[in-house]
Amino acid sequence: MPSRLQHVPLLAEIRPESLLAEGVRGLILDLDNTLLGFGASAPSPENQAWVAAARGAGLEIVLLSNNFGPRVSEIAAGLGLHGIPNALKPLPLGFLRAKRALGMRAREVVVIGDQLFTDVLGATLCGMRAILVEPIEDRDFPLTRIFRRLERLVLPERRA
Ligand SMILES: [Mg+2]
Repeated sequence: MPSRLQHVPLLAEIRPESLLAEGVRGLILDLDNTLLGFGASAPSPENQAWVAAARGAGLEIVLLSNNFGPRVSEIAAGLGLHGIPNALKPLPLGFLRAKRALGMRAREVVVIGDQLFTDVLGATLCGMRAILVEPIEDRDFPLTRIFRRLERLVLPERRA
């Protein structure tokens, strides 16, 4: 597991002020099971409030998702954010596009996501810090379910 990995139960437990105090200016945020439930069309009021608070505090946010274009664009538009679909995480290309969209250096950006082998691995490959959140729900893509089994091998807290 990368040494810079931080692990929290919920997005709403991440404090934007703490990140800003650590020199973070931008977030690359995963969509499914991080910001909203798999198949949901909008984040919960709590997560919408968190996005608003993070932006209000001065953090810029780009959504980066392996999900398809129309769904990602719709959710991004609803939040007034830039969204990048079909990201093929953990491959670096999408992360680098998101970092370019933020116009920041890798050390100023934190990737937040619920998967070790897409979000966290991709962040690490691109020299960015990652924060792992617990998935909002159990439903996922079939491929993700395979990754989940692997996650349980390396994350004791997911073995329950
Ligand atoms: Mg996810």
